[in-house]
Amino acid sequence: MDCIFCKVAKGEVQATVVQQNDRYLAFRDINPQAPQHLLVIPKTHMATVNDATDAGHLGGLLLFARDVARAQGVGDRGYRLVINTNGEGGQTVFHLHVHVLGGRAMQWPPG
Ligand code: 5GP
Ligand code: ZN
Repeated sequence: MDCIFCKVAKGEVQATVVQQNDRYLAFRDINPQAPQHLLVIPKTHMATVNDATDAGHLGGLLLFARDVARAQGVGDRGYRLVINTNGEGGQTVFHLHVHVLGGRAMQWPPG
């Protein structure tokens, strides 16, 4: 399958990996929108969160993103987890990913 994040997960596309386990991978966004901008993905392909059926797997993704935020030093200061979904959600890469944004004050409402 021609999926850029599957290729990152397999090591076929270079990325700055910061943390991983057998199920999830965290790497730096190529176009960071905050001092800390990581992407957390499941290693198995799923296009969007709409496709999720396994609560344990999806919950594990969130816990892993939380752990990544802590490891990057923003856990207590604050950070934002974002899952853009489909067209109006602003999703551009169709492999489920959680944005971990931190290192600056976030604004609300989002754009
Ligand atoms: P989305 O808009 O789908 O929520 O987010 C996709 C994110 O993936 C964007 O923030 C974009 O900068 C990032 N991205 C796209 N292609 C690559 C890539 O090849 N490597 C990395 N590290 N990030 C990418
Ligand atoms: Zn994929």
